[in-house]
Amino acid sequence: MFDPLSDPSDTPEQRQIRQTLRAFFEREAPISRIADLDATETYPAEILDGMAELGLWGIAIDEDHGGSPADARTRCIVIEEIQRAGACLAYAYVPTALFCAEAIGRFGTGDQQRAHLPALAAGRLRMAMALSEPDCGSDLMGLATRAIPDGDGFVIRGQKIFTTGADAADVILTLVRTTPGASPRRALTFVLIPRRDPRVAVQPLRKLAGQATHTCEVFFDDVRLGPEAIVGEVDAGAAIVMDLLDADRVYTAAQSLGTAQGAFDLARRYALERRQFGTEIINHQAVGHMLADMAIALEGARALTRLAADRLDAGLPCHAESAVAKIAASETATQCALHGMQILGGYSYMVEYGMERYHREAKVQEIFGGTNQILRNVLVRELGGGRSSPQAPASGAMTSPA
Ligand SMILES: Cc1cc2nc3c(=O)[nH]c(=O)nc-3n(C[C@H](O)[C@H](O)[C@H](O)COP(=O)(O)OP(=O)(O)OC[C@H]3O[C@@H](n4cnc5c(N)ncnc54)[C@H](O)[C@@H]3O)c2cc1C
Repeated sequence: MFDPLSDPSDTPEQRQIRQTLRAFFEREAPISRIADLDATETYPAEILDGMAELGLWGIAIDEDHGGSPADARTRCIVIEEIQRAGACLAYAYVPTALFCAEAIGRFGTGDQQRAHLPALAAGRLRMAMALSEPDCGSDLMGLATRAIPDGDGFVIRGQKIFTTGADAADVILTLVRTTPGASPRRALTFVLIPRRDPRVAVQPLRKLAGQATHTCEVFFDDVRLGPEAIVGEVDAGAAIVMDLLDADRVYTAAQSLGTAQGAFDLARRYALERRQFGTEIINHQAVGHMLADMAIALEGARALTRLAADRLDAGLPCHAESAVAKIAASETATQCALHGMQILGGYSYMVEYGMERYHREAKVQEIFGGTNQILRNVLVRELGGGRSSPQAPASGAMTSPA
């Protein structure tokens, strides 16, 4: 118990993957390197390229397109280890390697798959997912970016916000309104927009954590697209996003486990070494109990995340389970980071100790991937309530990172 590196409920292959990743990130992405990249807002290209050599970019891509597909449990291990090393890495990785790769792999045309998936699997192509807008986050179905019919294609006009990795992306997978006036569930479409189109402008935002991978505003000023840019059917975007967001929430839960586990590991090691009043501080009950509470919450959140991942792998409905896992894991991450700050005392504020980074990185996991309030609304509906009140759809943008 308490050490995922030797967890008997993982297969030997999964344990091997975790151990390989842990060693890779401890070597290539130590606390000081991630701190420098975040402080200077330098895109972590070298580390991301190293991840390509490990074959990590193809875990959601089939072998025919150059990928090495992994089941959802294994994907969660990969995501957890990446996030544990630094949110900036997960922000660059998850939208591209999971959300966008799955969107194209499951819903894209043969041409789109041939054009994008091999390059994604090799780690050569970066993508971003643009769902959120300034006036619509949780209420995603109300988005305003328009695709206006133009000949056999469209002109895209509008603005997105919080698009993580947009400035480093080659292609932005964007949700737009195709049919104004139609029911929201039959009015939205996914399109692939080249980021370097002269009519696309990207503006990075200043943010609290994971700064090495920018989160951006994106402006579309009459971007002309042909019909080949459409992913799936016209007006099928809402169904696609609902489908992908269940898995996305499981991935956000995995990110949260990475934060929680990282904070727990640092706090435990510190409490075993730091001595006050003649003993290691873990022996002071107030400190020991915080560590025990962190371990209990982590084990619970990990079990719920595995449960949801197993349902994804079995092709079973996962709407409630993904919400439960995401809420439990993200709140565990916040709690572990807070306890970790307390256990490290004044040193928790010092960048070289790494705990302040987990503290800054934790909170957003309660916000993106559908805020935890919106996901509790999902659970209320599962419990039979919420039918007569105005309900937000169970959307809420953002892959985990991003
Ligand atoms: C670092 C970061 C990275 C991100 N990356 C991406 C990305 O790559 N792509 C992307 O598309 N988006 C991204 N997002 C956006 C993210 O998905 C949204 O912030 C999230 O969906 C919430 O939307 P909002 O911020 O507009 O909040 P709002 O929807 O305005 O909500 C504000 C508050 O009101 C609450 N609330 C709203 N409606 C209800 C309701 N019906 N019941 C109860 N409470 C409610 C919310 O829970 C929240 O507490 C990112 C955000 C951040 C911070």
